[in-house]
Amino acid sequence: GLALVPYGQGRTRGLDADALGTHGVAMDRLVALGLTVVPGLTVPAGTAASLDEPGTARAAVELVEQLSGRRVGDSARPLLLRLSASAPTDIAGLPPDLACLGVTPDSAGDLCTVIGRADALDEVWAATVRMIAEYGLDVPAALLDDALLDNPAPRARVEALLSLVARHAARPFPDDPAEQLALAARAVLARWDSPRARRARKAQKLPADLDIALHVQALRIGPADRSGYGTAVSRHPETGRFSPQGSFFRGVRRSAPPPHTGEPLEKLAQGTVLLEHALLTLERHLHAPVSVDFEVRDGEVSLLAASAQSRPPLRASVCLAVDLVRDGALDKDAAVRRIGPAQVQELLHPQLKLTGDEELLARGLPASPGAATGTVALSSERALELAAEGAHAVLVMHETTPADVPGMLAATAVLTGSGGIASHAAVVARGAGKPAVCGIEGLRLDKAAGTVRIGERVLREGDAVSLDGRTGAVYAGTLSVSVAGPPPELSTLLEWADHSRRLGVRVNADTAAEVTTAVALGAEGVGLCRTEHQFLGDRLPLIRSVILAADPAARDEALLALEHAQHEDFKALLTAVGDRPVTVRLLDAPLHEFLPAPGEAGDAAAEQRAASLREANPMLGLRGVRLALLHERLYPAQAEALFSAWVEVAATGVRPQLEVMIPLVSLPEELQAAAAFVRDAAETVAARTGVRVPYRLGTMIETPRAALLAAELAEHAEFFSFGTNDLTQLTYGFSRDDVERQVLASYQERGFLTASPFARLDPHGVGALIALAVERARSVRPDIKLGVCGEHGGDPDSIAFCDDVGLDYVSCSAHRVPVARMAAAHSAL
Ligand code: PEP
Ligand code: MG
Repeated sequence: GLALVPYGQGRTRGLDADALGTHGVAMDRLVALGLTVVPGLTVPAGTAASLDEPGTARAAVELVEQLSGRRVGDSARPLLLRLSASAPTDIAGLPPDLACLGVTPDSAGDLCTVIGRADALDEVWAATVRMIAEYGLDVPAALLDDALLDNPAPRARVEALLSLVARHAARPFPDDPAEQLALAARAVLARWDSPRARRARKAQKLPADLDIALHVQALRIGPADRSGYGTAVSRHPETGRFSPQGSFFRGVRRSAPPPHTGEPLEKLAQGTVLLEHALLTLERHLHAPVSVDFEVRDGEVSLLAASAQSRPPLRASVCLAVDLVRDGALDKDAAVRRIGPAQVQELLHPQLKLTGDEELLARGLPASPGAATGTVALSSERALELAAEGAHAVLVMHETTPADVPGMLAATAVLTGSGGIASHAAVVARGAGKPAVCGIEGLRLDKAAGTVRIGERVLREGDAVSLDGRTGAVYAGTLSVSVAGPPPELSTLLEWADHSRRLGVRVNADTAAEVTTAVALGAEGVGLCRTEHQFLGDRLPLIRSVILAADPAARDEALLALEHAQHEDFKALLTAVGDRPVTVRLLDAPLHEFLPAPGEAGDAAAEQRAASLREANPMLGLRGVRLALLHERLYPAQAEALFSAWVEVAATGVRPQLEVMIPLVSLPEELQAAAAFVRDAAETVAARTGVRVPYRLGTMIETPRAALLAAELAEHAEFFSFGTNDLTQLTYGFSRDDVERQVLASYQERGFLTASPFARLDPHGVGALIALAVERARSVRPDIKLGVCGEHGGDPDSIAFCDDVGLDYVSCSAHRVPVARMAAAHSAL
């Protein structure tokens, strides 16, 4: 009849998960895949109570005997039964399995002899009798608990429980296997109906009257040296490669999964081959890393359960996706779809190995991903000293300026008290691939005392801290950091992603070294070289002297020094770029980043000039193209250095596709004037070298006015690059340097914003300006090249927006290039 369904026949009988339970479905699937399962049957949900009837129970015993080719009570090839339950979906709170059905006080000794251990069955047997006594025979739980407490030895427990049943139950504990099975079914169903189980269902929002299926399985008893049970997963958690991992135990399986202290799988001998075959088959079928519970019988493996791993290690998912494509089980796009950009990010950066015992000092903004642990340094100088000693320094500052860059580069990580996602510290750290946490509230530096307060704790220079730049968490002390690089399969997946994406991916890079790193990570060119970044640290005076020059002669001299330094930098940069496109942005130096601090200008006259240049709103002041129009030799000097560098590099056979970019434009007239400087420089270099340097001229779109006047600007520009950092700053009127700390935190709490608009492009306001500029620019110049080079160029959601709005490429810091490649592919697929 329909009441008893052998494993593997559920589907063919038209039963679904509601009837078969997850276990019945899983067994059906394994049988359909040709894998060996433990013999057994399902009593479908809705009819499960019929197993409580002697007739049905007897038929079930006989069917399992037939399926397993053994008989309960046979002492040569003994058989016991196990009863388990499953629901239509995976849920918590199912009754425990009842194993050892069919054993009697008379047969126990012989069974243990077969297994080879006198107490082999006792523990499992006691658990079974305990549950049947309470739920099947209504023996008071307190009496049963006392009996267990009084008798620590398992065999004594069985005896004590059986005599309790004899005294308190309406009938003695039966010897007959069918009667035992019927009582076991009654116990399991009663337990399922208990208030405790109902509460568990309520907590999971499951119906109180949810029906379960029952399963009766063969428990074949054999010698412990050739029998046992275990669990295995298909992939190595560290490498992600197919390599079954797990352990097994000799003896009789309990209800609970075995602890991780069993024998290694290798000891299964020929069983490992069968297990590998099963795991491989299941992976190909489920398209997921899998785990199985298995039984070993005379060296043969049969499966008790199998499922996709619920939280597989990321590396396992990546390697599996590539393996499935190589086996023809998946197409490349489908493989690419399985790994998200956030997961690429996770694979690229080191992670803290958290145990839960660490002391969290503070949570700041996740400014640059990766994890690090090191010694607190309260100044760039100290960070440089520590690095010179070979120590890992964590540079802790209120905020950073260009003068701190050498210290930042020497440090392993950066922490700042102020500053947002687009602040100097964040931008430089991301560019350098160093973890950073910025905007840590309550960070107080006392340089004189050499201390810093982070949260409740005061740390001294030299104390250890650890941080996770992906979560913004800062911890006390030295934590262990995993440094394993991404598996080679990630590169394969990213190459496939490259075929699927429309959007180009470039890098924001200022030096040859950064370009080389980025090209190795898949960058197709440079989308932004910020030339002011070539004047950091020791070279700061080069810019300072131009800005603070006392007279034209001094200025010319300063410009010459600047031009010379840039010429060398550009040569190295262009060589690293090769034949790829490279967008070089002429100087955009917000003055406050380059002016000396009061009292540090040198002489009184310089001090006065510096004072007169200080501005109330430097980010809205004399910067970008505005500075170039005030110091008219600045851009020509830079452009001549660039073009002559190109001529020298081209002579070696490399031809970078040069794009010269003007920053912070809001008037078409500004762009026209700056363009004239660049054209003149090209003429000068052509006259001097005889080479006409091919280049395109373009502008950044960083002000709302520039976006609105895109058509007018496009008359003079062959490309646009949206500088979404400044564009966001100016569209909202949010200071990119410090609005995050107070305003945005509160806005996020109120639910006004879900993310900082400096991290995720605002599609409604800033995005609307971009969309409008794209449309207006293309109406004038259909082939205008359009990209984004603000920090949003590395953010997956923002990248999807850029793709939708039809930009040609995004440009981001080197270490986000692989993330951007994947995000662009996901957006296209
Ligand atoms: C921008 O404003 O988005 C940009 C890329 O320029 P910067 O960050 O150098 O101001
Ligand atoms: Mg800008």
